[in-house]
Amino acid sequence: TYTLGPKISNWDQERSNWLKKNPEFPNYVNGKARVLLVTGSPPGPCDTPIGDHYLLKFIKNKIDYCRIHGIDIMYNMAILDEELAGYWAKLPLIRRLMLSHPEVEWIWWLDSDAMFTDMIFELPLSKYNNSNLVVHGYLELFNQKSWIALNTGSFLLRNCQWSLDLLDAWAQMGPKGPIRDEAGKVLTAKLKGRPAFEADDQSALIYLLSSKKGQWMDKVFLENSYYLHGYWVGLVDRYEKMMEKFHPGFGDERWPFVTHFVGCKPCGNYADYAIEKCFRSMERAFNFADNQVLKLYGFEHRGLLSPGLKRIRNETTRPLEFVDQIDIRRFVLGRN
Ligand code: UDP
Ligand code: MN
Repeated sequence: TYTLGPKISNWDQERSNWLKKNPEFPNYVNGKARVLLVTGSPPGPCDTPIGDHYLLKFIKNKIDYCRIHGIDIMYNMAILDEELAGYWAKLPLIRRLMLSHPEVEWIWWLDSDAMFTDMIFELPLSKYNNSNLVVHGYLELFNQKSWIALNTGSFLLRNCQWSLDLLDAWAQMGPKGPIRDEAGKVLTAKLKGRPAFEADDQSALIYLLSSKKGQWMDKVFLENSYYLHGYWVGLVDRYEKMMEKFHPGFGDERWPFVTHFVGCKPCGNYADYAIEKCFRSMERAFNFADNQVLKLYGFEHRGLLSPGLKRIRNETTRPLEFVDQIDIRRFVLGRN
């Protein structure tokens, strides 16, 4: 069978020894687990230039969120394993990063086409103390084996032996060519609502977890109390209403944490939705999020479709008053 690399079976012990020997690289800093946000895109240019522009906006948004919250960030454009190209590329990448960064406690995969739309909300990591995989999903759909029960565009994986084992099992349907094609037929036959196409990482995970529940599920946290992943349709048209009624920090339907452009393919030249609608919606999401960042500097976008800015405060000779009131890093600390 296919393997992601040499079999490693004592990672928990090895990692724990390493952490003891390298106290200058702690996996917990000030009581908070060290998180590495990982994302990426193909090595070449997008099919259309506008796609590259939006990939830039998506990564700017992630850099902003991570800077505000003290999360490390990694952007990958390399193909680490030819067999696992495309959406499967995240698996060998995550494994590589776990083994090369023993100081990282959680790897957080976030698709290139997902954006932070709540710049204040923070992951409730202490909820996950007894879990190794946190993924947005619904138990009811999972029990029905729906192919959208979970979304693998945004998930957290703890750096531990359990996760290495999961990645090995998960990767079995990934290798390009006949294996991936044949596995796609199995997944379409077994999962509810799945169209016919080659095996994808999301379907493969749902199938693996639901066919071996006893083996995996006690360490899997299905999160839906906030939008760890939020499907863009039904969110992007409500941003003005949210701004009227609520404020960032909720992370749920009042103010979605992540808006994910499932089916839009920013970098490709096809999509399940009208391409103009996709890009217009991405622009709205970006500016909605960017307003939360610009507030500290005294600006906001003229409208959610406008790259142009307007001032929201006059210049002052006592700027520190605003820093105390508005810097979201303080707001986040104040909430904890
Ligand atoms: N991806 C990557 N390299 C590739 C292809 C995809 O890093 O060569 C990443 C990218 O972040 C993308 C995710 O894998 O968002 C999921 O891939 P998919 O083809 O499902 O794209 P999506 O429509 O989610 O952008
Ligand atoms: Mn995606």
